[in-house]
Amino acid sequence: MGLYEDKRKRTHTPEGYELLTHESGHLEYDFHWHLGYYWSKFLAELRDNKRFMGVKCPECGWVYMPPRQTCGKCYVEMNEWVEVGPEGTLEGFTIVRFPYIDANNGGMKQVPFTSIWVTLDGANTRMMHFCNVYDEKELEVGMRMRAVWSENRTGSIHDVAYFEIVK
Ligand SMILES: [Zn+2]
Repeated sequence: MGLYEDKRKRTHTPEGYELLTHESGHLEYDFHWHLGYYWSKFLAELRDNKRFMGVKCPECGWVYMPPRQTCGKCYVEMNEWVEVGPEGTLEGFTIVRFPYIDANNGGMKQVPFTSIWVTLDGANTRMMHFCNVYDEKELEVGMRMRAVWSENRTGSIHDVAYFEIVK
């Protein structure tokens, strides 16, 4: 008995009562959530026009990509939409070589993959995505990157297939 006792191994309460369980059955259902105005517009622009739209703060002039409703520095609402990218600067990267369960589909994540932080031209904030380079010797912070669009776009962040190095 200790602070970190594994309760799953216990069959009885400390008083001696049997610990009972009930089978709840298999539960499965689809669910959807509303993305809101800013993310809806952002993703629809990726899908329909293959362009990145950010929002500009009327106080400090920062352009947020991805867009958000309120400036994190000035606490004012932002309504001015500005196009940024599709090229930008690599700010950081991680090459993942160990597979794990992909929360998007329940299957094993295909490795290697490279996640990146990129600041698109005209934006003041960085966004996370992927790139098609899996060798850290070929990547360097400060490199120029360019978005490559997916053939079938659905209104998802994956409408950008990945970023590639601008040669
Ligand atoms: Zn601001």
